[in-house]
Amino acid sequence: MKKLEDYVVSIPDYPEPGIIFRDVTSILQDAEGLQLAIDSLQKKLEGLDFDVIAGTESRGFIFGMPIAYNLHKPFVLVRKKGKLPRETVSVSYDLEYGSAEIEMHKDSIKPGQKVVLIDDLIATGGTIEAAAKLVEQLGGEVVKIIFLMELAGLHGREKLSKYDVESVIRYE
Ligand code: 5GP
Repeated sequence: MKKLEDYVVSIPDYPEPGIIFRDVTSILQDAEGLQLAIDSLQKKLEGLDFDVIAGTESRGFIFGMPIAYNLHKPFVLVRKKGKLPRETVSVSYDLEYGSAEIEMHKDSIKPGQKVVLIDDLIATGGTIEAAAKLVEQLGGEVVKIIFLMELAGLHGREKLSKYDVESVIRYE
């Protein structure tokens, strides 16, 4: 039987020289791969008491939504600035060159709610750290953060030391 790792195509020098891009579309375009990815992520939430799943744009939507549906939880969106139509809260964070801003709808999380954050991959950890700050601005508690893939060599976890973080596949 194929392992989840076997479905990931790694693309050298994309989007820039020196970067190995781990592609998730190669998982999604295979029915077995897709099922294995969702099931493996969902397993990380077994026995966890939580209220909401929040996914980060855009691959966090792909993996977060089916899990929220399966577990009968709400799914809320963390989007790039300017995409959400109603009142938002926002956080800026640093990129290698420049900065980015992400937002959530103000009413997407109620104070005291226990929130699971999900994305396809952690690299430097900047995106998910910013997402966690957004959840906390809204009064939510981040009870778990899950990724399909972790680029461990970039030490993104160090930014997330106060959270419970798990990933399915780890690349050194
Ligand atoms: P970070 O903020 O942790 O540095 O970067 C993580 C974000 O960039 C995630 O939203 C993720 O989707 C995207 N990302 C960075 N590198 C890769 C990669 O190699 N493969 C995929 N699929 N996404 C990546």
